[in-house]
Amino acid sequence: MVCVPPFPCNFAAGRDNFRGMEKRLLLDLSYEELAVELAALGEPRYRASQVWNWVWKKFATDFSAMTNLPAALRAELARRFSLDPFTVLAREGDEEGTEKVLLGLSDGTSIEAVLIREENRRTVCISTQVGCPVGCPFCATGQMGFVRNLSAGEIAGQVLYFARLLHAQKEQVTNVVVMGMGEPFLNYEATLKAMHILNDPRGFNLGARRMTVSTIGIVPGILRFAQEGRQYNLAISLHAPDDELRAKLVPLGERWPISEIMAAVDAYILATGRRVTFEYVLLRGVNDHLRHARALAFLLRGKLVHVNLIPFNPASGLPFSPPDEGQIELFRRELLAHGMDVTVRRSRGIKIQAGCGQLRSRFGQDFQAVTRAE
Ligand code: SAH
Ligand code: SF4
Repeated sequence: MVCVPPFPCNFAAGRDNFRGMEKRLLLDLSYEELAVELAALGEPRYRASQVWNWVWKKFATDFSAMTNLPAALRAELARRFSLDPFTVLAREGDEEGTEKVLLGLSDGTSIEAVLIREENRRTVCISTQVGCPVGCPFCATGQMGFVRNLSAGEIAGQVLYFARLLHAQKEQVTNVVVMGMGEPFLNYEATLKAMHILNDPRGFNLGARRMTVSTIGIVPGILRFAQEGRQYNLAISLHAPDDELRAKLVPLGERWPISEIMAAVDAYILATGRRVTFEYVLLRGVNDHLRHARALAFLLRGKLVHVNLIPFNPASGLPFSPPDEGQIELFRRELLAHGMDVTVRRSRGIKIQAGCGQLRSRFGQDFQAVTRAE
């Protein structure tokens, strides 16, 4: 296994996997899989609904809390399964209510997840991989390289982590964005399984329209996503209106030219009737010229899309800078003038380096300093 700097292997060894006793993560199971497990233990059919309820509706953190189950079953489940994939390694928040956590996984790697509070919305931004194989030069995660895929339970578990926290404050998660570390469509199975678990009306019951997956443009993934038969939202990180410039910003993206991405997006819109968001990180002197805005508008004209301009977040310490405010406004107006629907997304949580999609920045470094000092 490759170890991600700065976290030494086994540092955060899962507390449920000690003394050689490997427990399975219950969060990895779909409702149907849970029912099969319980049937194998000789339990009646209704047990699945009881356990599912405790986990995904009442947010139990311990099997002993599941008081309507027989004591022997509670003990057996506790022997076989874990309800918690994470060790919280660090937490950080700002005055606007944005909270970022660094979550240690059972193999000693770690990921970040963020809760963003905005008026009535409680949005959780989640990771799908440790690191990312795409390697975009403006992205902090991209600099780490790829370590491993997360399991469905590790992905959905990030939402559950904040749901438990909010539940204690009589609040709930209202939205999920898959815009943290990693490329979701390079971990398709686990990502979609996690979304289906969160969407399951028997449990967490988060509406499909409240979940958004952001992809760098993995065409086979987009085409498959179009055929899921759900109303999940799709966001495409485009960042450049032509293949030549895009190749510089999205190294692995070269495999799929923009024309193929657009054809896949058309298929998604046709199948779902959903509007697609195009994300465009604005990098000063790289992709922020008005000719880029015009080319982008030309590319997207007549489509059911929305453009999200994201000024580069300099907190990552990477060798780019955002355009000045005047240029951002000119770029926005140029798109508007060409009939585009456009917003400028100010990253929440910049102060704590928690801008969604810009995770794994200084948090890791600070944490390394702490562990070294110990
Ligand atoms: N891998 C997926 C999802 C995670 S990134 C994807 O790339 O779409 C989520 C968003 O944050 C992407 O649009 C990404 O380009 C953006 N992002 C990454 N680093 C950034 C930075 N330093 N400043 C602003 N946006 C950034
Ligand atoms: Fe990976 Fe997305 Fe970062 Fe690119 S922007 S390196 S695809 S996480």
